Amino acid sequence: MPKTSERFKAIARNLASTLEKDGPQTLLRHVAAAMKTLSRYSAKNAVLILSQFPEATELNGYKKWRERGYQVQKGAKAIFIWAPRYGKKKNTEEDDDSPVFKGFKLVPVFDITQTDAPAEAIANASYAVKAPLDLDYSRIAEAIASRVATVVTTNSIHHHGYYDPVNNTIHVCANLPEPVRIHTLLHEAAHALLHRDVKTKEKDVSAIEIEAETAAYVASTMLGLDSSLATSAYLTSYKAKPEDLYDVISRVSEAAKRLYEIASGEAGLQKAA
Ligand SMILES: [Zn+2]
Repeated sequence: MPKTSERFKAIARNLASTLEKDGPQTLLRHVAAAMKTLSRYSAKNAVLILSQFPEATELNGYKKWRERGYQVQKGAKAIFIWAPRYGKKKNTEEDDDSPVFKGFKLVPVFDITQTDAPAEAIANASYAVKAPLDLDYSRIAEAIASRVATVVTTNSIHHHGYYDPVNNTIHVCANLPEPVRIHTLLHEAAHALLHRDVKTKEKDVSAIEIEAETAAYVASTMLGLDSSLATSAYLTSYKAKPEDLYDVISRVSEAAKRLYEIASGEAGLQKAA
């Protein structure tokens, strides 16, 4: 088996070439869908899983599947994900046996469809996509206001919204259709999560806008909102290159996941991150 670092590079190359082939819109849609299906994994692992096995639903290691009574099929190609690595402490005075965190390693897992699980078990795979949420701007604005930044309503014909980092305040225009207001809110909230302490000079405006819009797109899509046309137009206006979006996605994936959790009301239900 090749070294893990080489494997990871190969996986990254694979994702980057998918991106070049399909363009930003298809890829973003793909990432959003996978993150929703694979919500028990970190955003980085979800992207990693997706690049190797786009239809993944339920994953376990070889041994775990055996414990569940299923056998991984002969010749099935393993999917690699990052898992924490633990080891013994060095030079400890007391006999402290508690394991210490030693970084991450790639471990092989298999999707339920790569096992001999019966069709019913596959159909009921634990991470089936949830029913679309009842989207309500006020509820999402309230959730964002309590966890990210103050949200206020403005009237402007020049912007859909903007984020003020000095007062950590999101401004959203009142006179827009509700889905557009929700998407705008998520875009500005992405700025609040990603760029509150970033000076515009350090990072150029287009890099900042591409990051915020990518995070907002992923979160919107996960919420069942279709902003693909607006996002494609936006990314194009800031000259986003498909080949750079892989980097953008990995930079903003945690923020996108956080936005989705807050906006969907899942944030309060989940274990502390
Ligand atoms: Zn912006």
